Amino acid sequence: MVDTGKHIVEDVVCGFCGLGCDDLRVEVEGRAVRAAGTACPEAAKLLQRMDAADPDFSRYGVPCSAQEAFDEARALLTAASTPLFAGLGTDIAGGQALLDLAAGTGGVFDHAASIGLFRNYTATQRTGWLATTLAEVRNRCDVLLVIGNDPTPNFGRLFERLFPDTPLFAGEGRKVIFLGGTPGTRAAAQLAKADVTSLPATDLAEALAALAGLVGGRSLAGESIGGVPASELAAAATALAAARYAVLTWNAADLDEGDLVAERATALADALNVATRAGVFPLGGRDNIIGLNQMMLWRLGYPLRTAIRGGTSEHDAALYATSTALKDADVLVWVSAFRPEPPPPFEGKTIVLGHAETAFDKAPDVFIPVGTPGIDHAGTVFRMDSIVSLPLGALRVATLPGVAEAVRRIAGGVA
Ligand code: SF4
Repeated sequence: MVDTGKHIVEDVVCGFCGLGCDDLRVEVEGRAVRAAGTACPEAAKLLQRMDAADPDFSRYGVPCSAQEAFDEARALLTAASTPLFAGLGTDIAGGQALLDLAAGTGGVFDHAASIGLFRNYTATQRTGWLATTLAEVRNRCDVLLVIGNDPTPNFGRLFERLFPDTPLFAGEGRKVIFLGGTPGTRAAAQLAKADVTSLPATDLAEALAALAGLVGGRSLAGESIGGVPASELAAAATALAAARYAVLTWNAADLDEGDLVAERATALADALNVATRAGVFPLGGRDNIIGLNQMMLWRLGYPLRTAIRGGTSEHDAALYATSTALKDADVLVWVSAFRPEPPPPFEGKTIVLGHAETAFDKAPDVFIPVGTPGIDHAGTVFRMDSIVSLPLGALRVATLPGVAEAVRRIAGGVA
């Protein structure tokens, strides 16, 4: 029996930013949903649902039945020669169904948040890296280097998750060094028990190279490097070298030279590992990008930004990035189930499998409103460190299809 009275659901898992908080309190009353503590502002906004009617399915801006929308999407895809499946904000089941569909239609696959992922891939392809996990950072890291701007606006509870009050192995006096950024109010509150310093930097890559040099025993020439006073760089290098387990973190999507920063951070971790232990913890993971990428690897042997054609797959990180692939595509299938993110401007046909509150500048050719994993239906997403898959539960009875169901109906598998 469905309970329509007001009640609190404890320990809700959040699938929005990739950090995988699993302790949210959520108030559910009938079809209304709202955060009741522990959620960050981003999650509170994305969780909120009013007890409102679902939007219409539509064709060419005109409301239609669900079946008519599925049929029109199928017709557009059948006629397409170069479809692009982008956005890809969905759970694993939705991604699997889209790949199944593309086995027949062909198409390019890319995620809306892949820019940071591929900046990091550029670095790992050149040098490899020693990446750590959220659990390792929580329990062992004693010196954390945060490279670039405070990441808290994008990962609301990051420092609460990384530096809990009771780590298993790290002792008192955990240090956090911000390089090129300063903690905002929320980050500062979460780091109240840590020893926090901030180094100004105008060139993060140069500053990281200088830190690696200092850790390797070289001395610095000049009063500042990369905009950081030499004395402050030396103090940071000393703290990193003295750490039992240093961790370096950054959000490549937020950095102009994200690939170079990732490479230099990796080199610094390598230099530290000569005498102590260090790892990198790259940030990312919005809207299950890590899960979609993992799924592509299992299924095709290639990551995102891969084209499927004629039973074969081809990966090209530049050619099959959404912004480039749009120039060759004739049909865009835009998928965004976690947030109301509209598709990018596109001259060809557009099919949107989108969040119910999506607002469009121009109505898509087909709009199929879908439910959100973790609110309307259960699903699986991956945490940003790739090693944990998270089960999302349903908070209310679904009245819209999930992406997987919508795709099966486009494919004609369901009457
Ligand atoms: S920090 Fe991320 S995972 Fe945690 S509640 Fe906020 S959006 Fe959800």
